[in-house]
Amino acid sequence: MHELSLVTELVAECVRRAGGRQVGAVQVRCPDGVDADELTEAFYHLTAGGELAGAVLDIESVRQVLTCGCGFSGEVDPEQCAGHMVICPACGRVHEAPDALELIAVRFADDAGTVL
Ligand SMILES: [Zn+2]
Repeated sequence: MHELSLVTELVAECVRRAGGRQVGAVQVRCPDGVDADELTEAFYHLTAGGELAGAVLDIESVRQVLTCGCGFSGEVDPEQCAGHMVICPACGRVHEAPDALELIAVRFADDAGTVL
């Protein structure tokens, strides 16, 4: 499962940033085509019982950006994205979607459980 490897890296980065503090929420940005449900499932699976246990994964979907050999460069509609494939809207060539799970913020919880 591809999402699992993306999330494994994400969790490792969050643990580094947290430095032992309790994490309340993790905000990420991911392009269309990445399965948000699978990301969420993998995140909870990987964080259960660990340093990030109880943290909430907050996913913001963004448009996939493609640069094609035909000269097209720009955002691609979600309809043109399937799994890890992106179809060039100009020439129809199929590209492999780049891995782009971007960590936006790690928010920490204080003693009252409020996410800071
Ligand atoms: Zn093209």
